[in-house]
Amino acid sequence: MANPTYSTPDSPAPVAELVATLGNGAKVKRRIPHMRACNEKDAKGKLCAGHLKRWYFFGEEIKERFGENAEIYRCEHCQTLYLPNPNEPPRSGTLSW
Ligand SMILES: [Zn+2]
Repeated sequence: MANPTYSTPDSPAPVAELVATLGNGAKVKRRIPHMRACNEKDAKGKLCAGHLKRWYFFGEEIKERFGENAEIYRCEHCQTLYLPNPNEPPRSGTLSW
């Protein structure tokens, strides 16, 4: 029996893709649009579901990779970092209608 080494490209379920792993081991992922909770799983496969909060205290490594004023969110539970999804329109203050 051959190992199924080929990944099938069908059924693209929305997944927060891993963008980078920092020098300290922190993961940087791309948010799914409207994502509010962390979808990391721990070693036992339990969903983290921590709250993603805007985070401003990133260090030089983040600045180098994503820019001085990067929009970064961090899971308050497992500290995984998230970038905004490019398909997600920036949140505007008020609706005009
Ligand atoms: Zn988390």
